[in-house]
Amino acid sequence: MFGLLKHISPKTRILFFAIFLILLPGAILSYFGFRSISEKAENLTTTYRGTVILVRDRIETEILRLEEPLRSSLTEQQLKSDSFKEIEAWLGELELRHPGLGHFFLVNSQGGVISATVSLGWVKTEEEPELGEIAGMTEFRSAEESEFVKKDCAAAVQSYKSVLTKTRTPAGRDFVLSRIGRCYFKMKRYREGIDAYKKIVALPDQRSGSGIVPSSIAALTQIADGYASLGEDKKREATLFALYERLLYHPWDLEGGEYSYYLNSTIEEVNSIVNRSSNGNQTERVFPRLKEREKELLAELGFVRRIHQTLVPQVLSEMSRETVSQLVPLRIPLPLDGSIIEVSYLRLPGSFQRLGISAMGYAVNEDYLVSVLLPRILGAVDLGKDLVVGILGSDGTPRYLQKNVPTSKYLMAENFSKTFSTWKVALFHPDGKTVEELVGREKHLYLALFLGIVAVMVIGIVFVGRAALHEVEASRMKSEFVSSVSHELKTPLALIRMFGETLESGLVSDEAKRQEFYHIITKESERLTHLINNVLNFSKMETGSKQYRFEEDDIVQVVRGTLEAYRFHIRDLGFEMVIQLPDDPIVMMIDKDAISQALLNLLNNAAKYSDEQKFIRVELTKNVDWVLISVEDRGVGIPQDELGKIFEKFYRASTTRTKETTGSGLGLTLVKHIVEAHTGSVEVSSTVGGGSRFVLRLPLQQAVDS
Ligand code: ADP
Repeated sequence: MFGLLKHISPKTRILFFAIFLILLPGAILSYFGFRSISEKAENLTTTYRGTVILVRDRIETEILRLEEPLRSSLTEQQLKSDSFKEIEAWLGELELRHPGLGHFFLVNSQGGVISATVSLGWVKTEEEPELGEIAGMTEFRSAEESEFVKKDCAAAVQSYKSVLTKTRTPAGRDFVLSRIGRCYFKMKRYREGIDAYKKIVALPDQRSGSGIVPSSIAALTQIADGYASLGEDKKREATLFALYERLLYHPWDLEGGEYSYYLNSTIEEVNSIVNRSSNGNQTERVFPRLKEREKELLAELGFVRRIHQTLVPQVLSEMSRETVSQLVPLRIPLPLDGSIIEVSYLRLPGSFQRLGISAMGYAVNEDYLVSVLLPRILGAVDLGKDLVVGILGSDGTPRYLQKNVPTSKYLMAENFSKTFSTWKVALFHPDGKTVEELVGREKHLYLALFLGIVAVMVIGIVFVGRAALHEVEASRMKSEFVSSVSHELKTPLALIRMFGETLESGLVSDEAKRQEFYHIITKESERLTHLINNVLNFSKMETGSKQYRFEEDDIVQVVRGTLEAYRFHIRDLGFEMVIQLPDDPIVMMIDKDAISQALLNLLNNAAKYSDEQKFIRVELTKNVDWVLISVEDRGVGIPQDELGKIFEKFYRASTTRTKETTGSGLGLTLVKHIVEAHTGSVEVSSTVGGGSRFVLRLPLQQAVDS
């Protein structure tokens, strides 16, 4: 690196150092800019996190407050027995009293679960109906004998009917009536059989124990079969609808799987009936309502099943621990049908324990939360127009939004900590921006600013560099100019002096020779005058004080006169000169001295820049608009790429620079200035080695007819 620096000139080193000094503050500024942006991002993140936590805690407190009335009510004696009816009614009532909570269920010490609708593995303490409830036991036995041993169904029906008249309890009547129905069906007397089963359906429903099909369900199934045998489809369909409705509103213990079996096969039958028939009878009108109930029931069945499978073992093991206090909820997120239910459960007080009930469970009602509680809580939370609070569910999709904003990105989000552990509270920007995006704009601004500064500096450096190069070139040209002008002055002066001294010495006796010497002295002084005129005119031109004196003059005469004066000099140099001028005068407004000087400059150049081919041709022509004066030579020529530059001050073409000719680089600059003062132009065409042709083009509009 330092080795490399040695080869760099001190000037360049200074330039590099200057660039470094200029860039350094820019870089430092940008560094601090970026640092302040990062700090801003950090501060924003901290603020937003604090805000989110605050909002989350507030929401959680409110959610937990929903449980307070429930917990305080549980301390009292609530249940007299563990009968299905009482428990289901109580659980249903809880749901009404606590709208923010739902999915109430109880777990008993055997691991059974019961909800307001269904139960699973919940063994009931009530006695099953005994045959003892049937009066006339001897008669009943003889009826059974007729039915099964003698295969005399008619006699059996008689005996069962007689038993029925004596039986009072609903369970007993259920039982005997089902025997009568069965015997009629065996005898293919379906209508009478159906009548017997209908009586069972009409009786108040008996809730059977675990896994036992309720008699009304069995009876309805039989009735449907009876109508099928009779070929009475409409009635069979109506019966199946009744069965469907009864199954939906009177589910029984799921344990044996019979309930699910009955429900699923009836749903199938009912669906196929509805699909087949197109007339809107009464059953079809209630169908949507039943379907709705079916959906709720299946969901409830799924929920209770899930609780039974996954949660109950955990609940029982936790309840067996002494450390778990009463009425303090424990929580668990329970995946169900693709979503997650946040289930809470708690140990129940002693009065429940005595009935064999270990724990109660429930879930916060999400609908209530989203449509009632969150709007109430977040309606009171105002974080300004730049912040919107939202609640994200377990799958990350918004469950509730304070305002409608894009939700693909959030500023900050925090999980719930006490309940709904899979949910998040999130802060959104109204335009859906993240913290990075919020500060990103400033970051880009800083970057653009920095790049802008660098760009401006680079442009400045380029301009300064170019100007410096120009200066160097100009000063080179100036020194060249000084040396060539001095040289040009020296030659004529030396000649004048030499011939002057020779004449003065009186050594030249020949008159002709003396005359020649006088002539040379005159010519050389004329050249000196011309040269000095050029320099003086140029300096006037540069300062803007050059004045032209336009007068009406015959341009042909001006050109002719100039050529006359120059002819001898050029002939002395051995040039052949061809001149073509019109015979008639062309009178126009010109500065004749200036035009003459321009022509002289062109003639001088033609002579100076010719080698072996010493030929000059001068021509004056006139067309409608212009007078054209051309000076042509067969000299060294000018390269094409330099043609445009030769009119610049001090410029000397590469073909002639190395030649032994002297020159100031001012001649053509003056020519151009003079011609442009006459509102004309100068053109040049040239080939290297082939000669050049300069044309002065002067407008005729100032011409005056002679
Ligand atoms: P100088 O005093 O050098 O002749 P000029 O302004 O008259 O200055 O000319 C500029 C340059 O143009 C010359 O140095 C020369 O290189 C080139 N030049 C001008 N006239 C001719 C010509 N007739 N033939 C070749 N080169 C020419």
